[in-house]
Amino acid sequence: MARNIIPIQPTPAQPVAKEPTFDYFTTKKDELVGWARKFSIFPYPFVTACCGMEFMSVSSTLYDTDRFGAALPRFTPRQADLLMVVGTVSHKQAPVLRRIYEQMCEPKWVMAFGVCATSGGFYNNYAVLQGIDKIIPVDIYVPGCPPRPETVIDAIMQLQDRIAGDHHVILKGDF
Ligand code: SF4
Repeated sequence: MARNIIPIQPTPAQPVAKEPTFDYFTTKKDELVGWARKFSIFPYPFVTACCGMEFMSVSSTLYDTDRFGAALPRFTPRQADLLMVVGTVSHKQAPVLRRIYEQMCEPKWVMAFGVCATSGGFYNNYAVLQGIDKIIPVDIYVPGCPPRPETVIDAIMQLQDRIAGDHHVILKGDF
């Protein structure tokens, strides 16, 4: 006896709801690298004097420099890219500061933190370096004796803008 064969009807294909996806993006190399670098600043604090108290304050949770990706100080110049010169620098310390700067890898930036680092401050005498830009290039000056933490944060943000707008060479011969 023949068995009744019931043909299977194909079910109509259900439209699959397409999830919104992020297939690709385009950007410029300098913008991508600049964006990454501006949020991964590793400061090296070269602290010599009373501005150090203000550095500790700005590093506290209250001001939260982690918001800017700049919260982790590195105590070796080879792992840092922002040299923060915090306080008075004497002529005796100047060669040490210069050597630390030279030990940092490129790209690197320098912040003169307070008027002593900027210009010698009120120590206008034979023992004090009248501004660290006499021996190393400075990217940003932070005024004040000492500067308020808000001023330092403003300087970090200005430096970030500069880093983001920089030309970032990755390989030799890069354009
Ligand atoms: S700027 Fe003022 S607070 Fe800072 S190291 Fe000089 S004297 Fe001290």
